[in-house]
Amino acid sequence: MTRRQCTGEYKIKPIKKAVRKLLGYPYRARIPKDIFVEQWVGISTDEFHRAKDSDVKYMRNRHPLIDMNWSRGDCVKYLTSLGLADTPKSSCLGCPFHGNAQWRHIRDTSPEEWTDVVAFDAAIRQGNARANATGNRLLGQAFLHRSRVPLDQAPIDHVTAAEWAALQPQLGEEQVDVAELEQGVSDGCSPWACRGGVEPVQDDFGLAS
Ligand code: SF4
Repeated sequence: MTRRQCTGEYKIKPIKKAVRKLLGYPYRARIPKDIFVEQWVGISTDEFHRAKDSDVKYMRNRHPLIDMNWSRGDCVKYLTSLGLADTPKSSCLGCPFHGNAQWRHIRDTSPEEWTDVVAFDAAIRQGNARANATGNRLLGQAFLHRSRVPLDQAPIDHVTAAEWAALQPQLGEEQVDVAELEQGVSDGCSPWACRGGVEPVQDDFGLAS
């Protein structure tokens, strides 16, 4: 896993831009203290530790599921009552934390999105263009799938012996097992609570503004 900027670049930054636009204060304009939006973030009680405040005063995070004392199970029960039992966890289409099941789901149910993620996977092979241009060249190649094989050729229908072997050094304290290879990481992804447990990188491009 390389340095990750997806949450900061693809979510927090665009959200801040949109919120500033809604409030009528474009980037760098000072926003008065009493002007803010209330942002609802769907963190359930079993993910309590992932509920975070925003890092700017013009956005105040609220966590209604925690206020209502709803667990993930309560959410599933509610969605099931509405006929929406198959609602997936929130995540980006081309997330490197997907397991094989999620990749298969995209491939088998949405050819257009599959073409999109395959193209995205090919486009990241040499790493981040801006980092490469500034001398922080990626040593090696980037892939979305854990097998480090182009996505349209990756073994998403089964876990290979090589993937198992690659996991062996990680077994122990932090168990990565076959369930994660198949289902991906258990967390969904939301702003200020990135999937995979690593804090989002925020400061390269003035995201705190
Ligand atoms: S779901 Fe989260 S971790 Fe995955 S690519 Fe999107 S922002 Fe990054």
